[in-house]
Amino acid sequence: QAKAHGGGNYCFFSPKMNQQATDRLILAAALRDAIAHDRLRLVYQPQVHARTGKMYGVEALSRWNDPTLGFISPARFIAVAEETGQIEAIGKWSMRAACRQMAEWIRNGIDIPTVSVNLSPLHFRDEKLPEFVAEVLEETGIPPARLMVEITESTMIDNYDRTIKAAQALRELGVGMSMDDFGTGFSSLSNLAGLPVNEVKIDRSFMNGLETVDKVRSVVTAVIRIGQSLGMTVVAEGVEHEEQRQILVNMDCDVLQGYMFSKPLASEDLITWLASYTPKEIAPT
Ligand code: C2E
Ligand code: MG
Ligand code: MG
Ligand code: MG
Repeated sequence: QAKAHGGGNYCFFSPKMNQQATDRLILAAALRDAIAHDRLRLVYQPQVHARTGKMYGVEALSRWNDPTLGFISPARFIAVAEETGQIEAIGKWSMRAACRQMAEWIRNGIDIPTVSVNLSPLHFRDEKLPEFVAEVLEETGIPPARLMVEITESTMIDNYDRTIKAAQALRELGVGMSMDDFGTGFSSLSNLAGLPVNEVKIDRSFMNGLETVDKVRSVVTAVIRIGQSLGMTVVAEGVEHEEQRQILVNMDCDVLQGYMFSKPLASEDLITWLASYTPKEIAPT
């Protein structure tokens, strides 16, 4: 309510909105500090082949544990970073950090086929993005095919032509392109055909209804069919239970990522996890 009280006193911000604005300013300032002092960390969540359970790759996810503010979820700080433009720095940092980590895994003979890095819409407005990625690949010496770039469906839609161009340039470098959170935006399935992506990730929100809601199952089945018919690898994210895995295997989904395998882990913990991980093969029923 803009006019909160009578007497010509207009109040454009409710106390709650004010608090939120202050929180954002505090977060933005603390984030600037965290970036400057290299306090962000990457954790890596395993992705496995649905049927065989064998390693497919990992997704790199940013973590910020602030000495004064405590743990701040990526949902919050990525949103702030997108508003303030700090996402530019975070994207560059995460790309470099993930590729360096992959180079180290390769040097140490650790078998992690690919690492996926999340990039935001803003990066795709930067014409120098492919150049930057090429530099990081050269600097770290990792084969381009070991890197995947995840972009959200809404990124694709908001800035269609430019995003397609950037994605195409990355594909030409030999980098994999993945469409993240598929099903949460408003692109039609037919849109998928025109995109230079070789992987599509079904959003975690579809996993809830997988066991109980027929319509959810129909949608997920359709996405898997269309993705595969376009030559894409279909990844389901947020897989928490054995029952969900079985349903996804029955649907012939390619790759699974979720807590039933592992939460995102720091590299040392990921290596420990890998050492004791025994892939368990399951057949469609
Ligand atoms: P996302 O890229 O879709 O990443 C998947 C999210 O689902 C991660 O949340 C992951 O921890 C969570 N997740 C995975 N499996 C399960 C599961 O079985 N159950 C549940 N409940 N959750 C699961 P996280 O790490 O909190 O990240 C949230 C979002 O923040 C990411 O969604 C991504 O959009 C964004 N994000 C995180 N790190 C970065 C980054 O470095 N750059 C950019 N641009 N965005 C990032
Ligand atoms: Mg992602
Ligand atoms: Mg995702
Ligand atoms: Mg998601």
